[in-house]
Amino acid sequence: MPRSTTPQTLSREITISGHGLHGNRPCSVRLVPVAEPTGIVFVHTPTGTVIPAKADLAGDLVLATTLVKDGVRLQTIEHLLSALMGLEVEHIRIEVDAEELPILDGSAAPWVEAILQVGVKGLAGRRRFMKITQPIEVRNGDRWIRALPYDGLRLRYVIDFPIPALGRQSRELSLTPDKYRRELGAARTFCLAQEIDMMRARGLALGGSLDNAVVFGADGPLNESLRYEDEAVRHKMLDLVGDLALLGAPLLGLVEAHAAGHALHVALAQAILAAPGSWEWTEEAEPANVRFFFQPAGLTAAAQPA
Ligand SMILES: [Zn+2]
Repeated sequence: MPRSTTPQTLSREITISGHGLHGNRPCSVRLVPVAEPTGIVFVHTPTGTVIPAKADLAGDLVLATTLVKDGVRLQTIEHLLSALMGLEVEHIRIEVDAEELPILDGSAAPWVEAILQVGVKGLAGRRRFMKITQPIEVRNGDRWIRALPYDGLRLRYVIDFPIPALGRQSRELSLTPDKYRRELGAARTFCLAQEIDMMRARGLALGGSLDNAVVFGADGPLNESLRYEDEAVRHKMLDLVGDLALLGAPLLGLVEAHAAGHALHVALAQAILAAPGSWEWTEEAEPANVRFFFQPAGLTAAAQPA
């Protein structure tokens, strides 16, 4: 499926309500289409605070992605951002009446279904991508993430947990809206049973349950079933797609992550934005070999992707 070449918003408004995973408070979210390209912009309606989805506003990144502006926090934004970026809806106003977005079923699937139900609408102009031209990497001990040049957006993710029920999982995927919907969107957030007391003591996961998270005990998931055999690594990829939204534009590159999480995902976005020599703007979404087909033979053979 070719990637969209025009900027996209939604065809109609969507309102979804639920409660937050960490604070367990009710929240209603209204997705409002925009008339021209604006990027993804949150509005905290009780205060009127406008918070663009940008990496320089990222705050607390423990177990969720949070934006902070003028003292207002918006927590657990990553699953909605993931659904929007996965479906190439990169221009939208998101009105939120609380400080944490609803966790829903713990995946991006409810957002994906709602977006597909109303459909997307093209806006004037050309879609612009940030195309990685030089490798860029962020490390934290054994955990790391890096972006490499690539035609398209390709994700490669490895997780390695010291409990047999999870263990090592790896997956690689070239992202298209269709693949996002089928292979990542429904993967639920997860945690280890042994972490729950620690999280609750810190005021986290107060709204968590087997209805909105997969909980792994020593012998396997406590939930009745998994949606994918490797649901955990797929959810990490879902989170990565959402966190990369904080670049403010779609990315073209190969992103490799090893035992990463929100903090490293956002650190990569910040590192890319801080290194303008490592990427360039392009409006060309198609792989180079599609273009080369129309060019004289021999001109660019060496540049074709393997
Ligand atoms: Zn998540």
